[in-house]
Amino acid sequence: MPLSANNPDRKSWLHVDKNSDFPIQNIPFGVFLTRDDIITIGTRIGDTAIDLGALHQLGYFDGIALTDDIFLQDTLNDFIADGRKTWRAVRNRIAEIFDAKNDALKNNTKHKETILFRLDEIEMQLPAQIGDYTDFYSSIEHATNIGTMFRGKDNALMPNWLHVPVGYHGRSSSIIPSGIPVHRPQGQTLPPNSDTPVFGPSKRVDFELEMAFITTDANDLGEPIPVEEAEEYIFGLVLFNDWSARDIQKWEYVPLGPFLSKNFASSISPWIVTLDALEPFRVKSPKPLKPQLPYLQYQGKKSFDINLEVAIQPTGAKETVVSKSNFKYMYWNMSQQLAHHTINGCPINSGDMMGSGTLSGKTPDSYGSMIELTWAGKKPVKLSNGTERNFINDNDTVIMRGHCEKDGTRIGFGEVSTKLLPVYKKK
Ligand code: CA
Repeated sequence: MPLSANNPDRKSWLHVDKNSDFPIQNIPFGVFLTRDDIITIGTRIGDTAIDLGALHQLGYFDGIALTDDIFLQDTLNDFIADGRKTWRAVRNRIAEIFDAKNDALKNNTKHKETILFRLDEIEMQLPAQIGDYTDFYSSIEHATNIGTMFRGKDNALMPNWLHVPVGYHGRSSSIIPSGIPVHRPQGQTLPPNSDTPVFGPSKRVDFELEMAFITTDANDLGEPIPVEEAEEYIFGLVLFNDWSARDIQKWEYVPLGPFLSKNFASSISPWIVTLDALEPFRVKSPKPLKPQLPYLQYQGKKSFDINLEVAIQPTGAKETVVSKSNFKYMYWNMSQQLAHHTINGCPINSGDMMGSGTLSGKTPDSYGSMIELTWAGKKPVKLSNGTERNFINDNDTVIMRGHCEKDGTRIGFGEVSTKLLPVYKKK
């Protein structure tokens, strides 16, 4: 099926600002609560949210094989499980409905009243019920930086890193959409020059600039997904802030990896941008530094040129952008991650989420975490209000943004914005 939704020349009859992340070529998917307190699946063009449940009930998806209630749900899991052919048909149809040359809905005021919402009339929810969440560690720059700080320069990259897309199983219960605040976690840490741990609030709360992909039902127990087929099972991507408590992490991570330092919260942007929408922005992944085993070898461009940035906004002050990075720096791409994840026969379900790992670039201004930007707190970052940060302070808001741009078309993810609150106190 052709990807007619990506036609770069198409204009919409809905207003779209020039620098919007959501032109008619994007058509992401999300879940929102409407002004009437109804939960529905929707999309967005410019700053208009579109109720896909209402569109479907009014017959605008006639001819596409969809169950009646596919969009009248509080998660995208069933729609994602319908597979790429259906995602494409629906995106293509939405592009037609909102095409500047199509008057059908444009001239139907009554239909528009039930289908269209301003952004201030809706509340975005988690887009999918995330059954399982895996986090990779796929930026060589990030792995080298963290390894240097934790183990010294000579042992920075572990011997397996250039052979295995390293990852760990995270916790999906604490994945939250943009806008939901997070409390500073407490836990065990080992003070400097001591051999006895103490308990208390983390003093080193950090963000991790990541992206995450959402999968469809992919394989049965025992069945690996070949690297060349992996993209068939990737629905789309979101921005992902994998909150981390570095002092807790440093004490607990040996030998099984991060545990409580990571699972207190992870924030995602609420609109899933489909892999189809990102098609024009394909780029090559970095060249392997060591030969990779056959099940990880692939052909062509499997990465995407997505500009990323992180800003810190103290309460009552303007934000300061502290990092600019790119998804394309990732050493192990999504296809390799999925092939590796399933090579042992581990099943992947609709709504599973895979984090990229912190996306750091080569230069210090492109590092994707505070621990790298400040080199473990030794070189504080200056903010525009004159204050400095080694890590994230209580009541700071961390904002991540991402977009692709090529030949005049911009496809973006919006933002994931999260405020760090003080330690939780029982009311
Ligand atoms: Ca992470």
